[in-house]
Amino acid sequence: MDVVLESSMNLMKKFPLCDSCLGRMFSTLLRGFSNEDRGRALKRAAVMELLARIKGGEIEAVSELKSIAPSLGGDFDRTFEEVGLEHKPSQCYICGGKIGEWISLYTQAVNRLKEVGAESFIVGVKVPKEVEDREEEVIKAFSMLSAESIKAELKREIGKRISASLGIPADFKNPGAVVLVDIESGEVRVSVNPIFIKGRYLKVGRNISQIRWFDEPEGGDSLSVEKMISSSLSKVYEGSEIVLHASGREDVDVRMLGSGRPFIIEIKNPRRRRANLKLISDLLNRSSPYGKFSIEGTASRGDVRVLKLMDSSKLKAYRVVAVSEEPLSESDRNAIEEKLKGAVVKQRTPLRVLRRRADIVRSKRIYDIKLKLVGTRTLVGILVADGGLYVKELVSGDEGRTVPSFSSLVGKKLLCAELDVVKVFI
Ligand SMILES: [Zn+2]
Repeated sequence: MDVVLESSMNLMKKFPLCDSCLGRMFSTLLRGFSNEDRGRALKRAAVMELLARIKGGEIEAVSELKSIAPSLGGDFDRTFEEVGLEHKPSQCYICGGKIGEWISLYTQAVNRLKEVGAESFIVGVKVPKEVEDREEEVIKAFSMLSAESIKAELKREIGKRISASLGIPADFKNPGAVVLVDIESGEVRVSVNPIFIKGRYLKVGRNISQIRWFDEPEGGDSLSVEKMISSSLSKVYEGSEIVLHASGREDVDVRMLGSGRPFIIEIKNPRRRRANLKLISDLLNRSSPYGKFSIEGTASRGDVRVLKLMDSSKLKAYRVVAVSEEPLSESDRNAIEEKLKGAVVKQRTPLRVLRRRADIVRSKRIYDIKLKLVGTRTLVGILVADGGLYVKELVSGDEGRTVPSFSSLVGKKLLCAELDVVKVFI
């Protein structure tokens, strides 16, 4: 007798097993069939083998047939009749004959997934410990190397049925929804994964914060980029919480111009998943005359992490307007330009943010700076520097906490009157 048939007979002699649980012991041996198919084939082959031996006059084959009888279901009734044996199938040792019932829990998932309009999914299954323990006992008893776990089978069989009923794929990398099936309680939970959309924004007005003020009351009237986004997108995604992740942040009085600042919108627990990016872009751009948005596509949780890491490494170009208390000369302008181009600026955390940031010294390089003297006390220009440079303090000197500064280089007191981010380099 060959190896597979012999081990399946041995298994059935020791444990009553349903078709699926028997087939699962040989799961890696034949692709393209379900474990139920494998188990059914093995039982039929085993019974045919025994019948041939019985008909050949081998008496021991009758007791062998008796010993595997508890694993054989009603489809073998005629065989037992033929050989004149009593036949009572037993419950499967591993699943108690319930595996079919467990797989059919998929119908609950189908309804929930339909409700949320999921476009893809992943299945997780919680199997009772006793079931897993019994399965392990069976596998160990005959060192079944070709077995897979009941958990893997349930996940696959449930997933296959969901896919077939809804026409949506299982997606292991970036699933739209997570289906959790608890076998013991029969409960099925579906949680919807957030949607991420990436793009860039421009802030063409001043006094607009990037995110909502944390102490702002619901419906407050201060303007923020996040509010523009959430007010226009909550209509599309129906009542979901919408959060803005951006790569760094400009001050409330600083405009964000040029190529814009990269951001990712996170839509938590969306009621709907399908949305047209063109429509989203139109809605965003209609939300306020002070915000302009370009949408680049969908993103993932991992992209949010990259976005946040990216900021400190990126160069930025700023447009700065600096005003001096005393008149400035061309040589003042020249001194600032020459000394700052290529210089590394040491900045202690500015006094204005000391409340919420640690007091440390940061080194930031200035790559380029071009200034123009307008009138007698105003410098207007562009500078390119490491991300995270505090430009206002680079102008004022922040009471000696930023060195060098416009003020320290000319021995006059200068303040930053206007600041815009004009480019974020990637
Ligand atoms: Zn079973």
